[in-house]
Amino acid sequence: MTTHTDQSVVIIGAGHGGAGLAALLRQSGFTGPITMIGDEQHLPYHRPPLSKKFDGPSVQQLLRPAEFYAENQIEIRTRSRATAIRPDDKIVVLADGTEIGYDTLVLATGSHPRALPGTPEGTTSVMTLRTLDDAATLNRSLTRGGELAIVGGGYVGMEVAAVARSRDMHVTVIERENRILARVASAELSTMLTDYHRERGTTILTNRSVSDLRTDGAEVTGVVLDDGTVVDCGTVLVGIGAAPDEELPRSAGLEYDDGVITDEYGRTSDPHIFAIGDVARRPVAGHHGLRRLESIPAATEHARHAVTAILGHEPEDHEVPWFWSDQFDLKLKIAGLTTPDVTVVTRPTPGKNAVSFFHIQPGSNVVAVEAINAPSDFNAGKKLIRSGAPVDLDALADPSVKLRDLVGRSESN
Ligand code: NAP
Repeated sequence: MTTHTDQSVVIIGAGHGGAGLAALLRQSGFTGPITMIGDEQHLPYHRPPLSKKFDGPSVQQLLRPAEFYAENQIEIRTRSRATAIRPDDKIVVLADGTEIGYDTLVLATGSHPRALPGTPEGTTSVMTLRTLDDAATLNRSLTRGGELAIVGGGYVGMEVAAVARSRDMHVTVIERENRILARVASAELSTMLTDYHRERGTTILTNRSVSDLRTDGAEVTGVVLDDGTVVDCGTVLVGIGAAPDEELPRSAGLEYDDGVITDEYGRTSDPHIFAIGDVARRPVAGHHGLRRLESIPAATEHARHAVTAILGHEPEDHEVPWFWSDQFDLKLKIAGLTTPDVTVVTRPTPGKNAVSFFHIQPGSNVVAVEAINAPSDFNAGKKLIRSGAPVDLDALADPSVKLRDLVGRSESN
């Protein structure tokens, strides 16, 4: 289905994916009405500073200046929550009862943080971090001082741990797997980061889960672990993963399985509805099965592909999935998707606080790279992943061999 340039597009979700799609539609010559619906009070903003800084004026960075939306005739409805979709009538229903018609609908609703089971109702100092308002709440709580317990050693937890330690707070991370970042990083990267955080004073407890919270009125005073240990704290940050919104896609009868099932262009089981970003489960070039990719570059790329499909333009090349993280003075850039059968080749950068881990499949081809303070390794790794050609592993591990030579060899294969 191609949307004619005078038909209407309604986008639910005003995050990186939704806002990117709206802008790209206009840039690509779409002249019909565009409406974006967002449940937050803010115009679309950058999410990375929330966990990488979470305080100070630099946290609030709009994706585009406020005038952009009027200038580009993009109607943006903030503080509006879509509660249902009636696909037969092509109508979105908002929480206040307003009905908005569409020719093409895009679900860009992202995901929401999982809550810690067993948190008593009304506890104010147990929080999650996803939105600008969440970051302000976390910052207020931390400004009052006291100790911080972080449940979950994922990217949210480890980025916040680094900022909080830089502010001299007492920080304990509680992770139920046997290592931090177990879902997303190699054991080599987990070990390196664990040591880095511990050397800077963070307590990291693995193989531990929370069995109870100690509270004094609305305030939390401690986290009780499954082995009976109590971690004293005045604030608990819960970073135990994110889940996509299920209610809206289900209301539209869309095919759903831990995410809206889409093709690589975001097409759902309804020809008039697309889904992009965290909420979508889709094929990823070079990988079997369907994946839900939770990252900004992935959402932006999915938006780009959806725009070509909506407008009936030529499909574009697919990018290797990637994302980044900042922890203390470490800049992590990670490309590709790892698989269980990889071996990891470590490539140090002598004389610098930099190292890269290349994930190699049995055929000696690179499927992922984790580059720490090594942007050129990241760029070369992306090229090696894209080429899919075998590489010489001894040469890859040897910092005296230039990666561009290996890339050249793999591209000519
Ligand atoms: P995450 O990456 O899924 O990590 C959560 C971690 O918490 C997992 O290791 C998980 O283990 C563990 N966990 C789950 N339940 C637990 C419990 N009850 N007690 C202790 N540990 C528990 O999720 P996240 O860090 O919360 O991040 C949320 C989303 O934001 C993700 O999509 C993430 O990619 C995104 N994000 C990305 C960045 C970045 O790209 N730099 C930065 C911030 C946030 P199990 O695997 O066993 O569940």
